[in-house]
This record gives sequence, structure tokens and C-alpha cells, in this order.
Amino acid sequence: MYKIFNQMIVAEIDKFIQTRNYPTFQPKAIFFDMDGVLFDSMKNHATAWVKAMKVVGLPFTENEAYMNEGRTGSSTIDGVFVEVHGRNATEEEKQKIYSIKSGLFEACGKTDRMPYALELLHKIQKQKLEIFVVTGSGQPSLIDSLDGNFPGVFHKDKMVTAFDVKHGKPNPEPYLMALKKSGFQPWEVVVIENAPLGVESATNAGLFTIAVNTGPLNPAILSDSGANLVLDGMRDLHDYWEKLF
Ligand code: MG
Repeated sequence: MYKIFNQMIVAEIDKFIQTRNYPTFQPKAIFFDMDGVLFDSMKNHATAWVKAMKVVGLPFTENEAYMNEGRTGSSTIDGVFVEVHGRNATEEEKQKIYSIKSGLFEACGKTDRMPYALELLHKIQKQKLEIFVVTGSGQPSLIDSLDGNFPGVFHKDKMVTAFDVKHGKPNPEPYLMALKKSGFQPWEVVVIENAPLGVESATNAGLFTIAVNTGPLNPAILSDSGANLVLDGMRDLHDYWEKLF
């Protein structure tokens, strides 16, 4: 299994270097998405989105929540408004719906750390690679609880959240901003994502992207979004990490 996996990785890395016309591939930083990667939070986000939209009479399914994951709340709400009303939502409408959604999300209770995330981060720290968070989330409870759940791992100046960007995923802006903050070249970064739009954002920024399929989506959706590798979940990523880099 490991041997086949090793060959696959080498082939994917070669393809990545050639397609992008990069001089090399030498990871010095790992950019982590937050929801569905570091926190097992997507189920609650999906439930909260569906309920919040229902409150204001908008149709929205859990599957749509997973497909829209990574967008800012504002962009998700606009998407539904355009479909239903043929126009974007007003600022007032957005604030109302997002505040309902945030309240419902908080009411779901404490969000668990994704199993194997902390152990993986410790491996990465030992390798002296830098760790960044790049999230479309504006959910203060989660951003604040990064420190509590992953003590000593994350730093405020190595974070890009919904508050920092104009466009959000799938636009490459969040990952380009993280790249700029890091000072690294695009061939010195690896992205860990779980959502199709997150993968799109990262690959559009020119970065090597590993998708971990931690939710209910068909893994083919993640490959089709451009992921360089698709793994079954965080456990696989943790177990294969040394084989990867
Ligand atoms: Mg995610």
C-alpha cells in the first residue's frame, strides 16, 4: 500500500511542478483550512444554514451547505438570493440571516476537534514547517477556540479569516493573502482542504492541494475541483504524512 502510495505522490508532485512550471517543490509551510479539517464542525454548519434559511423562507439543503463550504456567509446568502429573487441580498438581509445562522450554530454546542488534527499538527511542528490557517469562517467562537483546542500551534499573524478578505473562496484571494503573509513561494506551500470551493481557491492560487474528504461528498467532486491528492480523511493524512513530505 505504502509503495503504491509513494509512487502516486511522486507522480503527482512531478505533474504539479511541470504543469505550473515551478523550479522545484519544497514545502516550508502548511496552510490549513479550518472547518471540516481542524474542527469537526461541518455537520453543525450545514444544519444551522438550512434552519436559518428556512426562518426567512429560503430553500437550502444540507448538500448545498457542503457544496458552498468555504464561501463567506455573505456570498452563500447572495447565491440563494440570486436563485430565488434574481438579485443579491441587501447588507441588512445578510446581517440578519448570518446572525440567525451564527446563533443556531452556537446552539449546536461545543465543536469537537477533528480526530488526528492535533497529532498531525505536532508532527508538522517537529518538522519545523510553518503552520497557517486560511478560513472563510467569520464564526468568532471557532477562531477563538483554535488556541484552546490546539495550544501553541496557531498565531494571530498566521491566519486569514472572513474578516481579512473581500472575495473569499473559491476566489484565490484568501490563499494568495496567506502566501503573501508567509513570504514563501507557491512551490513552498501545501494546502489541506476538505471542500470543493476551498480546493478551487487553493489551486487557483497555484498551490499543491491535498483534499481530505471528511464529509458526505463523493471524492470525485474533490478531484474534479483540482485537488492534487484526495485522501479519505484526517486519519489517512496523519498516517501517511511522513510518506508525503
Ligand atoms: Mg473546510
